[in-house]
Order: sequence, then C-alpha cells, then structure tokens
Amino acid sequence: MTKSLVVAGGGVAGMALGFAAARAGWQAKVFERSPEFSEVGAGVQLGPNVTHLLQAWGLGDALHQVAAWPAALHARSMTTGEVLATLAVKDATAHYGAPYVTIHRADLHGLLLQAAAREGVHVHSDAVVQGVSQSADHAVCDVIQHAQLQQHTAAFAVAADGVWSPLRQQLLGDGLPRFTGHIAYRALIAQADLPLHLRSQDISVWMGPHAHVVSYPVRGGEYLNVVCLAEGCLLDDDANNLQALQTWHAQKTEAQTLAELRHALRGACTPLTDLMAACSDWRLWPLCGRPAMQGANEHAQGRVALVGDAAHPMLPYLAQGAGMAIEDAHELAAQLLGATPLNVPERLKQFAHARWQRNARVQARAVRNGQIFHATGALRVGRDMGLRLMGAKLMDVPWLYGYRAN
Ligand SMILES: Cc1cc2nc3c(=O)[nH]c(=O)nc-3n(C[C@H](O)[C@H](O)[C@H](O)COP(=O)(O)OP(=O)(O)OC[C@H]3O[C@@H](n4cnc5c(N)ncnc54)[C@H](O)[C@@H]3O)c2cc1C
Repeated sequence: MTKSLVVAGGGVAGMALGFAAARAGWQAKVFERSPEFSEVGAGVQLGPNVTHLLQAWGLGDALHQVAAWPAALHARSMTTGEVLATLAVKDATAHYGAPYVTIHRADLHGLLLQAAAREGVHVHSDAVVQGVSQSADHAVCDVIQHAQLQQHTAAFAVAADGVWSPLRQQLLGDGLPRFTGHIAYRALIAQADLPLHLRSQDISVWMGPHAHVVSYPVRGGEYLNVVCLAEGCLLDDDANNLQALQTWHAQKTEAQTLAELRHALRGACTPLTDLMAACSDWRLWPLCGRPAMQGANEHAQGRVALVGDAAHPMLPYLAQGAGMAIEDAHELAAQLLGATPLNVPERLKQFAHARWQRNARVQARAVRNGQIFHATGALRVGRDMGLRLMGAKLMDVPWLYGYRAN
C-alpha cells in the first residue's frame, strides 16, 4: 500500500486536509459531491490561530490579496447602538504572531483549492462518497461518479463531509445532528452601495434579546458581510423536515425572510435597522449541531478519521468552525510526517487525542457565547456592565488565539 488517502468532501476541511497531507508527502484524492466548487455562503472570520497556519503553509500572500484586515471588533447594544467594548484585532499580530482577518468563504476555499491542485491533490467534483470500509491494511471508499460505482483504496480515509456527514453516521452510528433552534440570515452588500455612515472596515457584533447581528468587511474590504443570528424562527414543520434543514442555502420568499428579520430585530437601533434595510438577497441557514465531542473515538477509528464539521459541528458564535477544520488538517498532516501506511492507524489515534478536547472546548465556548450574546434580564445587565468595565479583556480569548499545535 502506498502513502495515500481518500477524502470525502471538498469543503474547507477536505481541501485543507488534502493540501496539508500532500505537503507531508501523501497522495490525496478528494471527492466532492457538488458538480462545481462554488462555495456558497458569505464571510468567515479567521483568528490568529488559523492565519498562523495558513502562513506556515505558504499561503500568507494569497490570503493577503483576498482578505480584509479589520482594525477593531466592537461589541454593541442592538437596542441603543452603544459600543460597549472594543477589541483591537489589529494588534493580533503583535500579541499572537499572526493577523485577525475576515474573508469571503469562496475566497478562502479558492485559495485552498488552488494550493491543493499545486501540490498534486486529485480533486473530483460531482463524486458522491457513499460509504467507507476498512481492513487491517487499507480503507476503501465507494464513490459514485458519472453514474458509476467505483472503489478507491488507500492507506486511510477521511470524512470531511460536513455537518450531515453520511460517513460519520456509518462509522459512529450516533444519529443525525439536531436543529439548534437558531437560524442564520446572511447578506452581502457592496460598501459602495451603502451610505457613508453605514460603511465599515471593522467587525461589529450587535447584541440583542434572543438575536444578534454580525457585520464585517470581506473581498479586500469592498463588501460588507451582514449576518443576523436569531433564535426560534423556524416553523415547527420545517424544524422536523430533514430535507428543508439539509438544504444549506434554502431560501424562503423575500417577504417571509424580511418579516422574520423584522421580528427578530424588533426594538433595534436606527443604524442597525438602516443597515439591514439596505441589504437584500438574504439567504438563510438553519443551524444544526451536536453536543461537544465526548472522546477521541469521535475523531478517528482504525483507518478512518473525521475532520471539520463532520467531527465537531458548532454554532458560529466563536467564529471558529472553519478554523478548527484547518487546525484539524494541520494536526493530521503533522502526524503523517514520517508515518507509513502500516502505522497510520496509530498516527490517526494520536491525531484524535491531540484534537478532541480542543474541539470540544471550542464547541462549548461557542454555545456559551450564544447565551451571552442573546441574554435578557439580569444576565444582559451584567454582560453590558462587565463589557463597559473590562472591555477587551472579556473579548480576548488567549487560549484560543494563542494556540500552537506541534
Ligand atoms: C452563519 C455561519 C457563520 C460562520 N462563521 C464562521 C467564521 O466566522 N469563522 C469560522 O471559522 N467558521 C465559521 N462558520 C463555520 C464554517 O463555515 C464551517 O465550520 C466550515 O465551513 C466547515 O467546513 P467543512 O468542510 O467541515 O464542512 P462543509 O463546508 O459543510 O463541507 C462539506 C463538504 O462535503 C460535501 N459532501 C457532503 N457529503 C458528501 C458525500 N457523501 N460525498 C462527497 N462530498 C460530500 C459537501 O457538498 C460539502 O462541500 C460559520 C458557519 C455559519 C453557518
């Protein structure tokens, strides 16, 4: 058996892993079920824990060309617009050795895809991985491509097939993820189309009861990414409709979406309602997740490993889902250095042990952030007072941003 792997899923996790494994001297094949690699979605924030890895992979220049470089992250009251506290994210390089950037998902995915292609990763679109099996010395993925079933054998296989991961269900048998009760409404608007007072090159988090809005620049700062995250806006019928939930970019009619947004943001201050009103073409994502990881066996078993949302889907309230996928890729690739097809199960086990607690901690912190962002009553008063008094200290997360694997 050669030093080879098969990756199911060509999102951020699959592409980062294919690239990182190839750099470590392994032949990677990535299978993506979508006919085209057109990453839907809008922006993602990448903390210094993640940009540090992209730089170490030689992708710093490519990142520089497409990302935006916000100076500050403002925590605001949704109702009054008051800036409660500010974290100077422009200081990330000084504090953590790498920048805090914001980027369009398609740009992040594009730079990983190009880097993977340069490293000789075989990337196949319109290819559905149906299942995985393993023996003592290899793993086999069943892939449907061009209406034909093919078997791809490698030293190991990786499930990077996202929150609904069919391979996870096959491997761990722990059921489907659950709808969290939270919905993300995302829009992208050219800064040039906004009145001057609504344009921004900073990150703002507008916190209100049961909802918050995040806005930040992407595409070199030319666009503003606006996301409203609200609790409980799905009809019960939809919440139980797997098909509706799985349709990542499912769209309701514009009128329904706007009515839901108005309801979620009732009582919001004028600058925020103006910003929301300026945006159009809202796309919605029902957020699904799993409890925090319980152990290393959720990350790897024998010759199969799970990475990214397949392993640890999380609420986006710490802005680290893609970041953890990239950290997973980095750690797995580090374990592959000097590994052989024979000892790869041992290396996957070490990868799992190195990653699961950090991923669980990030998952749990994201849930907690959501509770704080959406607080009402006494918790909300305490939050606002704490932010006014302690400011950046409450917003900085040194254990997260300062993390350095291997
Ligand atoms: C509103 C919102 C905001 C977010 N903000 C941030 C942020 O600021 N920072 C951050 O780091 N993260 C953020 N995230 C999280 C981040 O987007 C995800 O964690 C990340 O994209 C997960 O990548 P993935 O590759 O694991 O999964 P996915 O992106 O879901 O990719 C999985 C891929 O596998 C493919 N696939 C599925 N099944 C099969 C199969 N059987 N065969 C072949 N291919 C298959 C899918 O088509 C898909 O392309 C946010 C998420 C949301 C919803």
